[in-house]
Amino acid sequence: MNEIMRTLLELQTLDFGETQNSKTAALIAALREKVPAQVLGHYDRLRVRGKKGLAVVRNKVCTGCHMGLTLGTFMTLRHGLDLQLCDGCGRYLYLPEEPNTPVEPPAPLKPVKITRKRKPKTPAAETSGA
Ligand SMILES: [Zn+2]
Repeated sequence: MNEIMRTLLELQTLDFGETQNSKTAALIAALREKVPAQVLGHYDRLRVRGKKGLAVVRNKVCTGCHMGLTLGTFMTLRHGLDLQLCDGCGRYLYLPEEPNTPVEPPAPLKPVKITRKRKPKTPAAETSGA
């Protein structure tokens, strides 16, 4: 699924790029063949209105409209299960591959004041019911 979005991103980059010549036209044609008609249809509808049909997801936020993704949408993208449209702007969402990146973003780097908490009393070790 991600492959389709990657192709669509390439297509969009060319469609909205400044270089428009026979070479890009050929590339565009080749890329369009790899994208399902249904997806292309939606992409084209947005494109004719001068809008980009695809938005890249960064930090679980759509870069098209800066709306946060729901966890469900994010996980679907993450696992490449299905194509997802942004709830905010209706663009296709593309989650770039981030090798070796854990699902949860790393903790922010701002200095954290360490407040020493008293150790909570350990609850009586799990009662062995059996
Ligand atoms: Zn959006």
